[in-house]
Amino acid sequence: AEKLELVAQSIRSFPDFPSKGILFWDICPILKDPRTLTAVTDLFEEHVRKNFPQVELIVGLDARGFLFGPLLSQRLGIGFALVRKKGKLPGPTVGVAYDLEYGKAEAEIQADAVAPGQKVLIIDDLLATGGTLFAACELMKEQKAEVLGCLVVIELKELKGAERLKPNSVYSLVQH
Ligand code: 5GP
Repeated sequence: AEKLELVAQSIRSFPDFPSKGILFWDICPILKDPRTLTAVTDLFEEHVRKNFPQVELIVGLDARGFLFGPLLSQRLGIGFALVRKKGKLPGPTVGVAYDLEYGKAEAEIQADAVAPGQKVLIIDDLLATGGTLFAACELMKEQKAEVLGCLVVIELKELKGAERLKPNSVYSLVQH
């Protein structure tokens, strides 16, 4: 509970970013304080060891999933793979298109990043509508990986992202 409090206190919001009417949740203070970043990693590690001891790979989402994912995968002694925005990864890639609030986007992974049947957890900083994590789940399905669940630091409950991700589960440290 102490660790959760530390994390919750380190999240701040900015109105009208990146555009008018949007309230943006900023996780940068978590990284500024090493105790808080350790608390985030501890909490994820405890949850995964208890609920998903069989996990074989952590998959992180562009860009803030890259901040928390490798710390967790190192703790667990397993690998980390990057889902990136289109055109950023070298070599053979596989992609999936998805809808954003305004317009479309495409996420990619290197073709050899995930093995068929591999048990993965997907991590990002924040769950809003769930569109981004849903796309990553689709990408994993296409690669025949087994998604055990999703991990986020912050969940914006009223946007019902967790509903969208069903039957995949979401574990969040802080809810707003
Ligand atoms: P979704 O696809 O669930 O609607 O949006 C989640 C994605 O957008 C995540 O990759 C997340 O990093 C980014 N995102 C959307 N809103 C916010 C926000 O308020 N704060 C942060 N840190 N990321 C956000």
